[in-house]
Amino acid sequence: MRIAERLHLVMSGGLGMDLTDPLDCNVYLVGASTGWLLFDAGAGRSVDAALEAMPAEGIDPASITTLFLTHGHADHSAGAARMRERLGLKVIAGAATAAMVASGDEDAISLTAAREAGGYPADYAYRACPVGQIIADGDTQRIGDTRVTAIATPGHSHDHLAFLIEQPGRRVLVAGDALFHGGRVGVQNVYDCSVPEICRSVRRLAGFDYEIFLPGHGPFSLRDGRRHADAAMEHVRRNACPPSI
Ligand SMILES: [Zn+2]
Repeated sequence: MRIAERLHLVMSGGLGMDLTDPLDCNVYLVGASTGWLLFDAGAGRSVDAALEAMPAEGIDPASITTLFLTHGHADHSAGAARMRERLGLKVIAGAATAAMVASGDEDAISLTAAREAGGYPADYAYRACPVGQIIADGDTQRIGDTRVTAIATPGHSHDHLAFLIEQPGRRVLVAGDALFHGGRVGVQNVYDCSVPEICRSVRRLAGFDYEIFLPGHGPFSLRDGRRHADAAMEHVRRNACPPSI
């Protein structure tokens, strides 16, 4: 689904727009001058369908060069292996995410807990994926006319990164699960979720400028995207946790 110039939503599940598999997070394609950049990869069961739908939107999947992962949770990272297999793209992630995704450690990515809680079917299988490049907080990748900077945003999970994308004429935040529309956050009863860290990460995201706001689930914003961080800060300033999705 084309949502703006050089910006497409290619997967979105039951917490979002119901474009693809119900388990999928929001997966975005951003056009750099040298090819398309993919942000997150979904839960893995709709990769082929998503790739097959792209030509109708004018996208040649072969021109997707790079996949950035926000964190290791299966709804974001499980599709990486199939994407890499189909496209030969470069997978970029933080060191902690990379270790979990490359080993397919289902306990570390909280898939075991999520499956036991009924969030994933009993027969859901995670495919490990090698990560080609590690990115750390503050690192910037320059890809054609596009700069992608990693922002460490732990809390929802210990390994979480958001990405600030700077292109001529626009600034975009890929927020992953660190912040959602309306200032909501993603609190879960898993080993590495931390409310104080969620609040610190919200404060960080409120310190950047961006017009376009692309969260990992739910609605996105094409204008005034910073207002979602400001809404969350209303709670954080009182040492309260913003409401969770
Ligand atoms: Zn998550």
